[in-house]
Amino acid sequence: MNFTFDSEQEAFREVLRDFSLKELLPQYMKWDQENIFPRHLWEKLGQLGVNGLRISEEYGGSGADCLTTGIAAEEIGRGDFSLTYAVMLNALASEIISNHATEAIKKTWLPQIASGEKIVGVAITEPSAGTDAGGILTTARLKGDHYILNGEKSGISAATIGDMFVVFAKTSPDLGSRGISAFIVPTDLDGVECKGYGDMGNKLIGRGSVYLNDVAVPKENLIGLENKGFAQVMNGFDLSRLLIGLQCVGAAFQSLDETIEHVKTRQSFGKPLATYQGVSFPIVEHYTNLELIKWQAYRGLWLRDQGLKHSKEASSVKWLGPKMSQEAIHECMLLNGHYAYTNEMPLEQRLRDVIGLEIGDGTAQANKFVIAREIIGKDFRPY
Ligand SMILES: Cc1cc2nc3c(=O)[nH]c(=O)nc-3n(C[C@H](O)[C@H](O)[C@H](O)COP(=O)(O)OP(=O)(O)OC[C@H]3O[C@@H](n4cnc5c(N)ncnc54)[C@H](O)[C@@H]3O)c2cc1C
Repeated sequence: MNFTFDSEQEAFREVLRDFSLKELLPQYMKWDQENIFPRHLWEKLGQLGVNGLRISEEYGGSGADCLTTGIAAEEIGRGDFSLTYAVMLNALASEIISNHATEAIKKTWLPQIASGEKIVGVAITEPSAGTDAGGILTTARLKGDHYILNGEKSGISAATIGDMFVVFAKTSPDLGSRGISAFIVPTDLDGVECKGYGDMGNKLIGRGSVYLNDVAVPKENLIGLENKGFAQVMNGFDLSRLLIGLQCVGAAFQSLDETIEHVKTRQSFGKPLATYQGVSFPIVEHYTNLELIKWQAYRGLWLRDQGLKHSKEASSVKWLGPKMSQEAIHECMLLNGHYAYTNEMPLEQRLRDVIGLEIGDGTAQANKFVIAREIIGKDFRPY
């Protein structure tokens, strides 16, 4: 057993910590308050190698392992939670494309994703199918050398900023979740319309609906085999769930660090707040919880790097990570007193941002299904 990162990983963490605290954190509230997507920072992350961590060097990526990708999620989470989507979304989509798409698709899209020039989203959820993702209604019917896509994808991250989506649609509706395929759908195709929501957090990521009205998608844009889309994305979720845990933990650790500085200087009854166990113990409790989540996440990523099973670990991190992180950030708000309730401090925004990922990429219940299935048995699953 070896719990150390290698020197290259440590150096990468240092570079990203520095970038995150010096270049992302000072502007974190600005993008939220002015509702601006800072595309230049997404591109800067591309230059730092963050967007292409899970893309091989052959296609312009960094060719990094999953552990290193986790470091990026944690460190960017300290500076700007929304920009951690550049780690998680890109890793999820580019693994699906790298593992299953045609050579032509890989050559066209992967270098542009890695550089930050193009933004990719993953579109599964629909108005009538979220947790029950196998119940999607969007269809893709083969007509000549095109698939014709029809349906609405809802709740999609990057809906308003994405240049293309990995869209999941039914190619064999009679087969249920076994009849789903995945397609590359550029947003400039005729019949694609994207509309944003007024979200409480992660505003700059432009979550919304993607409408597909008779969209003719070239046959070559099918990712992998017909009717294998569900299995492809489920494997990808095991990665994104571990990354989400680290994104959230990064934001929460940063909140704790800021709060520790505050309680060491702020006085009540003639002594620093940190002197009182009513203040120091909650900090210790949250710190302990976050450390446990963090190491479970890195363990899951290590298992993935070794090609070992890690679904149960990924789901444990996904249901507990965002929850523990939002609880820690909430406590930090209280320990900072009334100023933390204003939008002049980042805590209220971090809280809003992190809560989104208690839902996105599968709720706590959806993740508990995965764990129950493994530790109790698949005969007892509800679906
Ligand atoms: C910030 C954010 C980002 C997102 N990004 C994306 C994205 O990029 N791409 C994408 O495709 N989707 C995305 N989503 C959508 C997300 O994946 C879904 O919202 C999620 O899977 C839940 O689906 P739902 O909202 O339809 O809720 P529902 O499935 O209707 O569930 C509602 C509630 O019921 C519970 N529930 C449902 N079924 C059961 C059951 N059998 N047993 C117990 N409890 C149950 C759920 O846990 C939840 O609490 C995002 C959502 C958010 C909030």
